[in-house]
Amino acid sequence: MITNQLDENRIRQRISDIRNRIEIAAKKAGRSADQINLMAVTKNVLPEYVNIAIGEGVRLLGENRAQELISKHDFYNLDGVDIHFIGHLQRNKVKKIIDKVSMIESVDSEHLAEEISRCCLKIGRKMPILLEVNVGNEKTKSGFAVDEIFEAARIVSKMPGVEIKGLMAIPPKENVLHHFKKIWDIYIDISLKNIDNISMDFLSMGMSADFEQAIAYGANIVRIGGLIFKDM
Ligand SMILES: *Cc1c(COP(=O)(O)O)cnc(C)c1O
Repeated sequence: MITNQLDENRIRQRISDIRNRIEIAAKKAGRSADQINLMAVTKNVLPEYVNIAIGEGVRLLGENRAQELISKHDFYNLDGVDIHFIGHLQRNKVKKIIDKVSMIESVDSEHLAEEISRCCLKIGRKMPILLEVNVGNEKTKSGFAVDEIFEAARIVSKMPGVEIKGLMAIPPKENVLHHFKKIWDIYIDISLKNIDNISMDFLSMGMSADFEQAIAYGANIVRIGGLIFKDM
């Protein structure tokens, strides 16, 4: 055991503070905090620390890298806890992770969706996925461009091994409110189209620096790393 009481208390306190802030942000937006899922993002965090967060009631983990997920997975206390994949996923890694996650949030191409669908059909399941929107059309980020997302949703919705459950985004830091609003608008537009095999249940946006603003624009998964695990 490499953790100590001090670390444990710190993580507990941080999670409690985040929950209070979610509560306040939700109330301000006229929403219920119960609808908002707090995800602990575990990149570069040792499983012992992640388990403290789980002990504090966190029920959703976010993993960025396939290799890291595979190597840490067995050390997590996963009873009642879901893992979502949230990083750029190479097609050749799909089959190694699909039995370890309950959702892939970072579906950023039709090819990737196709591979997830193919692998899931083989093992007789359907993978819930979110489509990642590159809302700022940034060259350095993955995700569907805003002008591709509707067509992509239509195409991916026909793939039998996946079910589209919503959108995920990492907006640019500049003008973040504008971008959250734009993602919300796309989310609503797609849901109003009533496409078979699409149910827009989840909007995953907002991180340590901006989760309260994301909540104001309808996020129901906030992905928090640093604010929980910094310096652990
Ligand atoms: C790292 C990461 C986060 C968490 O970011 P923080 O600023 O540490 O809260 C959220 N989402 C994705 C996709 C990430 O890679």
